Amino acid sequence: MQKNIQNNLITWYNKNHRHFPWRETKNPYYIWISEIMLQQTTTEAVIPYYTRFIETFDTIDKLAKASLEDVYKLWEGLGYYRRAKHIHETAQFICENFHGQFPATYKDILNLKGIGPYTAGAICSIAYGMSTPAIDGNVLRIISRLYALTDNIALTKTQKKISQIVSELLIGYDASSFNQGLMDLGATICRPLNPQCQNCPIAAFCKAKEIGQQKVLPISIKNIKHKELNYITGIITYQDQYLMIQNPAGLLENLYGFIQYELESPYRFMEEFEKQYHLPLSLVSYHGQVKHVFTHRTWHMHIYHFTLSHPYNTMYHLEDISQIPVSTAHLKVLKHYLKQK
Ligand code: SF4
Repeated sequence: MQKNIQNNLITWYNKNHRHFPWRETKNPYYIWISEIMLQQTTTEAVIPYYTRFIETFDTIDKLAKASLEDVYKLWEGLGYYRRAKHIHETAQFICENFHGQFPATYKDILNLKGIGPYTAGAICSIAYGMSTPAIDGNVLRIISRLYALTDNIALTKTQKKISQIVSELLIGYDASSFNQGLMDLGATICRPLNPQCQNCPIAAFCKAKEIGQQKVLPISIKNIKHKELNYITGIITYQDQYLMIQNPAGLLENLYGFIQYELESPYRFMEEFEKQYHLPLSLVSYHGQVKHVFTHRTWHMHIYHFTLSHPYNTMYHLEDISQIPVSTAHLKVLKHYLKQK
């Protein structure tokens, strides 16, 4: 067999690849679920969620017919809940428009909600063997090093250039093994810091290694504005029940949480609460603060305990809180409060 980048990578992948439950199947539905779960989440964390999800909803039809609450419940703790909502809506869309069969063209897959070029490329190549590139951070890094590209990989035009390079490399080769080979190489050998070039199956072709720049490349300068937000977060109780509300559209859409306002004092919180819910609060105690970091923002939640003299309609006993989908940020708040109490 001719020695080239593709053959070396594919042979290495077939011999050494990592074993995951989603690699035991070519079912595009299962691969889709795994790819969505793997966005922003590590493989180890995804395995139990993936297994439970597929056991519960083994067909697109079952997922489409489930309630959104049931889907959120299986997603609880995985974060970025908008993904779960998109999966649920997309399953319903597939049932209505594709008779419950996962679409089989790149264009139709890319048109599905929550699916971008990377996910569409991964599904098409892994499930259907199509020559579609799947460009993620790993691939951007490997190709930058392989060709000693000095372009900033945070820019769309560089990403397009790399996608073109991978498209050409794929022609005539096993796209599934090649794309997954890049994923594994990036995760285990061509790591962001200290790449293990001595173990790399494509080292002989790597320009960055040749010129000693593998610890410099890729260039990745992002311009992300990270917001720091301070909240007064209210643990509002009536006897042994806790007030929790379902979030409206936004960051933690449809998940339950405590009421919080971006205000500077618990007294202003009480005024705001009374204005909105027409119920007076009594301030009991301060319980310190909890920090929760999202991709583009950090919440600093200053926890105060308030009591109500009358119950409100969305109040839960502690044992019932485990039955509703609660945001991770507010589960942290509850845990902190109970420890302090
Ligand atoms: S030789 Fe080193 S830098 Fe080049 S692709 Fe392999 S691991 Fe990455």
